[in-house]
Amino acid sequence: MNLIINGLQWGDEGKGKIIDFLTNFFDINIKFNGGTNSGHVIYYKKKKKILKLLPSGIFKKNCLFLLSNNVIINFENLIKEINQTIFYKKKIYLSNNFLVNNFINELLDYILDKKLKIGVTNNGITPIFIINSLKCSIRINNFFCINFLKKIKKIIFFYNIFFTFYNLRIKFYYKKIFFKFFIYFKKLKKNIIFNEKIINNKYKKIFESSQGSLLDFNNGTIPFVTSSYTNSKSVYVTSNFFLSNIIFLGIIKCYLTRVGNGFFLSKFSIFKNLLFSKYSNEIGTNSGRVRASGWLDLNILIKTIKTNNTINLIITKLDIFIFFKKIKLILNYFLKKNIINFEKINSYKVYSKKFKSWKKVNNVYFKNEKEFHLYIRFIEKYTNTSILIISIGKNIYDLIIL
Ligand code: GDP
Ligand code: MG
Repeated sequence: MNLIINGLQWGDEGKGKIIDFLTNFFDINIKFNGGTNSGHVIYYKKKKKILKLLPSGIFKKNCLFLLSNNVIINFENLIKEINQTIFYKKKIYLSNNFLVNNFINELLDYILDKKLKIGVTNNGITPIFIINSLKCSIRINNFFCINFLKKIKKIIFFYNIFFTFYNLRIKFYYKKIFFKFFIYFKKLKKNIIFNEKIINNKYKKIFESSQGSLLDFNNGTIPFVTSSYTNSKSVYVTSNFFLSNIIFLGIIKCYLTRVGNGFFLSKFSIFKNLLFSKYSNEIGTNSGRVRASGWLDLNILIKTIKTNNTINLIITKLDIFIFFKKIKLILNYFLKKNIINFEKINSYKVYSKKFKSWKKVNNVYFKNEKEFHLYIRFIEKYTNTSILIISIGKNIYDLIIL
C-alpha cells in the first residue's frame, strides 16, 4: 500500500508532524510539489526543526527520501537545509528533472506582486513557472548537457525583458549566479537520480504534498493560489511514477488559517483573530506573518475531499480548543446574490453548528469527553468521510489512532 498525503486547507494543517509519524511505516518518503515557499515544523527529540525543502520524514533512519520533479529547488537553500538538518546526505535523492530556482526569480516575484497583490512569499515561484511555460526554465538535467549555455542565454533574455521594462540594472549578477550554480551542482551531483529508479520497485511509498489543496493553481481559491498544482491527483500528471495501490489521505486542522491575501467566509474578526493567532501560535513558519484564522468550513471541505480523491481524513490541533467554551463548524451559506466568486461576496449569511468544547484531551479516544466525540463524529457524518488519526499536540506521538 502507498499513501498520498495532502493538506485540504490553505496549508499549515500540520502535515509535517503527521508525515513524520507516518514515515515510520514506509520505505520511501517522496515530496511531489512545493519549494521554499512552504514550511513545516517538526519536533525531533523535542527540539523544534523547520523544514522547507526536505521531506518531513527526514529524521527517520531507515527510510529513503526523494524530492521529485515539480519541486522547486534553490541550490543554496537546499544545501543549507541539508547541512543544518541532517547527516544522511546520500539518502536524499533528487529527481533529475527538478526545477532550479535562483535569487533573480525571488526579486521578480517581489516586483510582480506589487502589481498582482496575491501576497506571495517572494520565493520566486510565480516567475519560475512563467519561465517554465516559455520552455526556458533550468532543470537539473540541463547541467549534464553541453547546450546548457544556450539555456542560460534564453533565460537571461527573459530576465532582460523584465528588468529593462522596470528600468533595473541587474545584469551583472547573472554571471555570478550561474557560476555559483556549478559549484552547488557539483556538491549535489551524487544525489541526482532518475525517478523511475526508485519508484518502480516494491518500496512502500508515502507521497507528501507540501502545500494545501485550496492553493492549487487550477482548483484552489483563484487568484490567491500558488503557481503549481497542489492537489493529490496532480501526482499522476506532474510525475513519471508508476502508481498503483494508492490511498489518498487528507489532513485538516479543526479550524482554518490562511496566509497571503484572499478571503474566507468563516474568518474571525480582526480582534478575535489577533487573540487566537497569538494563543494558538498561528504565525507563518516561512513568512513569519500572522495567519488569518476562522472556523472549520465543512462546505469547502466536502468539495476539497472530492478534488483530492480523499478516502480518509486526519484532523489536527484538537488540543487548541480546550480553553474555548463554545466552538463552531460552518455548514453552508445563504448568498443573497448567486455569486460564484467567493472572494467577492459581501452579502451572505453563514449557517453553522455550535458545539461545547472539551477541557482536556487524551490519547485514548474513549477517554475523551462526550463533546469531543460529538464533534469528531459530526465531521465524519457530514463529510461522509471517516477520520483515521486525531492529533492533540505538537509532538510526534500526541496522536489518537482510530
Ligand atoms: P504544515 O505546513 O502543514 O506542515 O504545518 P506547519 O508545520 O507549518 O504548522 C503546523 C504547526 O502546528 C506546527 O508548529 C506544528 O508543530 C503544530 N502542530 C501540528 N499538529 C498539532 C496539534 O495537534 N496540536 C498543536 N497544538 N500543534 C500542532
Ligand atoms: Mg506550513
